[in-house]
Amino acid sequence: MNTIDASTRLVALIGSPVSHSLSPAIHNAAFSAAGLNLRYLSFDVTPVSLESAVAGLRSLGAVGANVTIPLKRDVARFVDSLSPVARATGAVNTLIFRADGTSRIRVEGDNTDVAGFVRSLDPHREGLMGKPVLVLGAGGAARAVIYALARQHAPDSITIAARSRQSILSLMRQFEKRGIVIDAVPFDQASAVAAHAALVVNTTPIGMYPDVDASPVADGAIANGQIVYDLVYNPTETRLLRESRARGATAIGGTDMLLAQAAESFRLWTGVEMPALAARDALEGAIQPRLKA
Ligand code: NAP
Repeated sequence: MNTIDASTRLVALIGSPVSHSLSPAIHNAAFSAAGLNLRYLSFDVTPVSLESAVAGLRSLGAVGANVTIPLKRDVARFVDSLSPVARATGAVNTLIFRADGTSRIRVEGDNTDVAGFVRSLDPHREGLMGKPVLVLGAGGAARAVIYALARQHAPDSITIAARSRQSILSLMRQFEKRGIVIDAVPFDQASAVAAHAALVVNTTPIGMYPDVDASPVADGAIANGQIVYDLVYNPTETRLLRESRARGATAIGGTDMLLAQAAESFRLWTGVEMPALAARDALEGAIQPRLKA
């Protein structure tokens, strides 16, 4: 990796918690392989300090940022413009800081989770058209997943299972404005609804390290022929995926989406393609020690 010098510029990850994130490993390896004098650092930022964090990054000349739990929705209030996808989903995972010819730097909000999910699900596209899908959770990632499914996969119906009535209503309103109809059930009905879905997508953190024995649905809810997609990427095979695969379902983990959304953010910040092999090697290298921990 190049040495840090006076020209080194910053790309940040903001959210809370961020200490588990694999994005610094991916992006620092990719910046180095692409010969870019950039460094990716993570900062624990809670909602109360979000506005000042974005203002600070703007003032310090950061090139960009990723935004994660629990800030993806709130951060939209502190940007100058939103991409069409960020506006449609109501969730921002990427900030781009651009000089606009004046002394002021413009902050643009985008959502690369949508492109990441679309790319990673593409091989299964045919099997989903006209079929029912179930999305577990109603947060930022659920919005990206729902938007991607509605726009790219034309499912028969999209149902969300979530625990908070407020999150459900807010998500349904967001998509109603765009003609995307969502059905909703309480989270305790997730297993029953999962049994009838062609695709089940977990967008909750249930099953994520260190809570690796947890699963969002009961063992036995999934059967042969279904597709189960878990956005959790640490561990790479969650309990949900392990049990689903054992029952004959197609199980997809979160690492392909993680790399695909990272590649899209990288392109927005730098204008060049992310070196894919360096990024995947770095991700695998960062995951292995954690699995042994
Ligand atoms: P978020 O905005 O905080 O949303 C999380 C959702 O999960 C919320 O609806 C929350 O419910 C629900 N939830 C949390 N714990 C729950 C529990 N014990 N029971 C039922 N529901 C629960 O977070 P996010 O940004 O969407 O991220 C969610 C997960 O997706 C994280 O694990 C993240 O790492 C992963 N992710 C992966 C990728 C990838 O590229 N693979 C990309 C984005 C996100 P409430 O609304 O009631 O709090």
